[in-house]
Amino acid sequence: MDILTALPLPLQVTVVLFLGLSFGSFANVCIHRLPRNESVMSPRSRCTTCNTPIAVRDNIPLFSYLLLKGKCRQCAAAIPVRYPVVEAVTALLVLSGFIKFGVSWKFAIFCVVGPALVIITAIDIKHKRIPDIIILPGIVFGLAAGSYLVGLKDSSTGLLVGGGTFLLTSEVYYRIRGRVGMGGGDIKFIAAVGALLGWQQVLLVIFLSALAGSLVGLVGLATKKINVMSQIPFGPFLAGGTLVAYFSGERIVYLYVMTVTGGY
Ligand SMILES: [Zn+2]
Repeated sequence: MDILTALPLPLQVTVVLFLGLSFGSFANVCIHRLPRNESVMSPRSRCTTCNTPIAVRDNIPLFSYLLLKGKCRQCAAAIPVRYPVVEAVTALLVLSGFIKFGVSWKFAIFCVVGPALVIITAIDIKHKRIPDIIILPGIVFGLAAGSYLVGLKDSSTGLLVGGGTFLLTSEVYYRIRGRVGMGGGDIKFIAAVGALLGWQQVLLVIFLSALAGSLVGLVGLATKKINVMSQIPFGPFLAGGTLVAYFSGERIVYLYVMTVTGGY
């Protein structure tokens, strides 16, 4: 890590961007394989159309997509635009984390959290679920990282407050509406977020994601893009709220407390 800070700033940014791009590339592998219960370690990536293994020179994040103009070298099938988007978004997230936190544990933890949020968002949008294979290790990681960030007590309280709030909401919704509104994946996801950020900030995440989800839902209804029975995946909103809290949660909670108590 010290080697990184010894470099001139433009070089630091370049190194971090390449780090982020390679995390994004791995995120793409996870997004494709985890819902299919396939190993993310082997075999090598293949074209999903012609099944040809992708050569190393064609597997450079972002750049290969641009050089190949979005087409497989062998069969010319279109490479889904999701691949470069996931790589670019992950790289920008990792760079933002570096700019905000510098070389620190908070940045190191974010190098796991940021790509994980991208993976969960993409899988939830595509498959309308969050697989246990990513979210159960996420809870364990949340407790370990949260113990460092907010202390073990706040971390475990956050897990219970986050998971408990969603469990209760889902139970009440089911009793009233007679159908499942919130999936088990969302409940485990918010429990992991609570473990990572502690109970105060998990409440902030719930508030922000519910607000954003409602706004998008209302706009969708108004523009007739969805109807009242539509299932909007909630994972992306939770991921967005988690990002805001990870970057600025302490400040937002502080400002809120100051406002409510009048500074006392
Ligand atoms: Zn192909």
